[in-house]
Amino acid sequence: MTHYECPKCGTHFDKNGWDLLKPHFFGKREEKCPNCGQSTFMIRHIGKI
Ligand SMILES: [Zn+2]
Repeated sequence: MTHYECPKCGTHFDKNGWDLLKPHFFGKREEKCPNCGQSTFMIRHIGKI
C-alpha cells in the first residue's frame, strides 16, 4: 500500500493503479494534492498510513 503526504497541507492520499507508470525520485514524487491543489513533491509512504 503506497500513499503520499502533501507537505503543504499534510493531507494523506492514495495513488493506486497508474502510480507505477510515472517516474519517482528517491521516495518523493511530484503530484497534485487533491486537497489544496498544489503540485509539489509529495512524501511517499509505503506500508503504513
Ligand atoms: Zn495539500
